[in-house]
Amino acid sequence: MPRVRFAPSPTGYLHIGSARTFIFNWLYARHNQGTMILRIDDTDVDRNTDVSLQSIYDGLNWLDLGWDEHYRQSERLDLHRAMAGAILAKGLAYRDFTPAVAQASEEEDATAAAVADRPKGAWLFNAGMRDIPREESDRRAAGGEPFVLRYRVPRGAGRAIKFEDGVYGAQSKEADDVEDFALLRSNAMPTYHMASCADDADLKISNIIRGQDHLSNTFKHILIFEALGVAAPEFAHLPLLIAPDGSKLSKRKHGPVVSVTTYRDNGLLAHTYVNFLCLLGWSPKDNREQMSRQELIDVFTLAGVNRSNAVVNFTEADPIDPKAVWLNSQHLRAMPAAELAPLVKSVLEARGLRANEPESAFIQTVDAARSRFATLNDFAERGRCYFADDYPMAPEAVEKLDVPPARELLRELAARIEAQPEFSEASVEKQLRDLAAEKGVKAGVLINGSRAALTGQTAGPSAFAVFMAVGRERVIQRLKKV
Ligand code: GLU
Repeated sequence: MPRVRFAPSPTGYLHIGSARTFIFNWLYARHNQGTMILRIDDTDVDRNTDVSLQSIYDGLNWLDLGWDEHYRQSERLDLHRAMAGAILAKGLAYRDFTPAVAQASEEEDATAAAVADRPKGAWLFNAGMRDIPREESDRRAAGGEPFVLRYRVPRGAGRAIKFEDGVYGAQSKEADDVEDFALLRSNAMPTYHMASCADDADLKISNIIRGQDHLSNTFKHILIFEALGVAAPEFAHLPLLIAPDGSKLSKRKHGPVVSVTTYRDNGLLAHTYVNFLCLLGWSPKDNREQMSRQELIDVFTLAGVNRSNAVVNFTEADPIDPKAVWLNSQHLRAMPAAELAPLVKSVLEARGLRANEPESAFIQTVDAARSRFATLNDFAERGRCYFADDYPMAPEAVEKLDVPPARELLRELAARIEAQPEFSEASVEKQLRDLAAEKGVKAGVLINGSRAALTGQTAGPSAFAVFMAVGRERVIQRLKKV
């Protein structure tokens, strides 16, 4: 049974790319009856924030997919250090006592200006440090001298580090080109590489599915797994998400489009977002787009993930990709009205509107109103007339009411509806058509007039569905006072 993990670092809000990584891991687990693990990578104490951690949980809870096991790396530091120590004990790592000022805190910063003797891009290790005899190294460490623990990358042996990526295929890199990366920092905190591999090994992760930006880290990870004496998991890296202009999506440059909550706050259903993200870099064989959760689980495979970058569409004025809006309108109509109703209710309540009572009437309203809506927010905005009496009257709606004898006959229709207990699309349609025939006017005059009176608009769901959406009491009240 596969075991996969999603491992966000709580250093910013939950990013669209991270959400997709979570979803692909989750689908992989569910498709293969495996285990989905949430692992919070919170060892970078300087950059972690509680706000960020909360935003990760908020985003993931909204997606409503869940996970089976949950860990925080900050609670597992002893394990990371013990595993780093085991690598040192095998002679596959060494202590680097280069003074802190000259010591780049992260191997990624190895070309920092402070490190004068490291020409950019060429730094591999600090001369002399690899060769300090073990006894001397132990003595200096016992004496309290600070050090960085570095992996002793095999050099001069022509070793190639290889793996087969589930998406990008065969990968290979000369070990001679890999720097002696850090496992423990001088404050004894594990680096990302060490903590991540230690946990992946300990939690028996079988497949690592993550963003393409980690592809090049994988060579280091293979070396760590090797030193730990465990088989490396299988790797699959996911294509980058890019902006319409081809640039990598970034919080600084693209603002709210990268945040999961932007989609939520614009009234998208969580499942729409899941469905939409799946189509960024993955497609089922038959190119279907609108898919239920179960359909996604059934057909999801890594073979369907493609290598080319996936474009998220947005503009300055509208952060939401039009495909997501289209998918949302499909899912809004396809889902059971009783499931949609509570979601509409919370949007209404957030805008100070109230769901109709009883609940059955509310569900009927939601069901009848949704046919022209694309987002949950539409219910509170374009759909205000269904939940409040102070809705705007469009000038063209007033024109429809002004066609004589629309007003007079709509008042008559109100009286007839009030007199009859049955209130259904069919009963209202019959009453309206009978009335028009009796008075010798076209039914259209009353159909257009009633839509105008009931909603303040000239377009929307079919006129008789509008009666149902507005509900009996309000229909009578509104038609009486046209
Ligand atoms: N914490 C890392 C990140 O957020 C995890 C990368 C990985 O999946 O190994 O990028």
